[in-house]
Amino acid sequence: MSHTAELIAVGTELLLGNIANTDAQMLSQGLSALGIHVYYHTVVGDNPQRLRAAVETARRRADIIITTGGLGPTCDDLTKNVLADCFGKKLVHNQEAEDRCRGFFQAIGKTMTDNNAQQFYLPEGCMPFQNDWGTAPGCAFKADGVRVIMLPGPPRECTAMFRYRAAPYLQSLSDGVIVSRTLKLFGIGESSMEILLRDRMNAMTNPTLAPYAKEGECELRITAKAPTQEEARALITPVEAELRALFGDKVYGADVACLEEVALALLKEKGLTLGSAESCTGGLIAKRMTDLPGASAVFAGGIVSYTNAVKRRALGVSPALLEEYGAVSEPVARAMAEGARAALGCDLAVATTGVAGPDSDERGNPVGLVYVALATPEGVYVRELHSGAGRQRVRTAAAHNAFDLIRRYLAGLLEETL
Ligand code: ATP
Repeated sequence: MSHTAELIAVGTELLLGNIANTDAQMLSQGLSALGIHVYYHTVVGDNPQRLRAAVETARRRADIIITTGGLGPTCDDLTKNVLADCFGKKLVHNQEAEDRCRGFFQAIGKTMTDNNAQQFYLPEGCMPFQNDWGTAPGCAFKADGVRVIMLPGPPRECTAMFRYRAAPYLQSLSDGVIVSRTLKLFGIGESSMEILLRDRMNAMTNPTLAPYAKEGECELRITAKAPTQEEARALITPVEAELRALFGDKVYGADVACLEEVALALLKEKGLTLGSAESCTGGLIAKRMTDLPGASAVFAGGIVSYTNAVKRRALGVSPALLEEYGAVSEPVARAMAEGARAALGCDLAVATTGVAGPDSDERGNPVGLVYVALATPEGVYVRELHSGAGRQRVRTAAAHNAFDLIRRYLAGLLEETL
């Protein structure tokens, strides 16, 4: 049987626009991976009447209601009180919740204030979701054919509570298991991908195929349902093989987070070091690389060479080259990459130079023109990009391409010639 979930986020801050409802985004993604449909998101303030009204609406159109927020000591237990009341349940004392909450304060060496005692009470007959990431426990109960799940609001807690408490609970409702595998693609647009897959996707029921596009990358999620993990994986394997055959080396990984993660793994595997010289990306490549744990094993460092003076002094780009071709040019991108490789003493170095906009440069180069270069022991590879308008988009595309050059070079897939 397929389930329909509705999300209710509780918090006046959300309504005021002080914070974004990232819990809903995370939950929708997680529920979709479990094969549970989400048709509505609601946000209500810290107001019992309006929360009650939202719950009454949700229970008529969904068989799973998930709330976020309003569980902590500062909220007067708004969510628990209202939800328990709507479904005719009393709140009863839960000794484990009390012990854990007291233990949490002891562990951080702080005195527990009295208002925390509200967190010891949970709806009668519920399944408590102990919170190992904060103090407010969540819970799940079933009443009148509806399952209610309450999760704390802070995103770190909500994410962990969903992953380790709510998702296993929801999975246990299903007759079988749901397994997903996500292929990541770079170098193909969402619409081209969809055209190639449309008929195939419409004909599929198990596994299903869902495309997503974000910031110049595409994802294809294959989701299978079967009695066991092994059987679900067996359904996924031929579809994955078919997609890999169709998209070739545009597929840069499966169940990986991003291009830089793949680049980092390959650099580690080959025992090579990387450096960067960044003009239009202004340090984005270095930032994205060092966001990854373990980057220090391979990333030597980066130079943000925004002006021509820094390109000359820090990277040794010749004034004649800058004069003749301009900063946004293939020869300068080459010289920057070579200069970084020498200055930083690393095996490989990437460089970016381009026009991020909003205006074209003094030589009339259009916004979106970027050269990305990769210096290697064999020579320098350069890719020319035309990524259109939008400062952020141009910079993101440049960084994506830098990582794509690195991973292609290391995997022996580079299309560019020296
Ligand atoms: P606590 O125990 O911290 O009080 P709680 O479950 O009562 O947790 P709230 O008090 O409603 O949660 O929210 C705590 C904080 O969590 C908010 O200030 C906000 O920063 C964040 N938060 C709450 N709801 C969301 C949401 N839907 N999306 C993103 N952040 C949220």
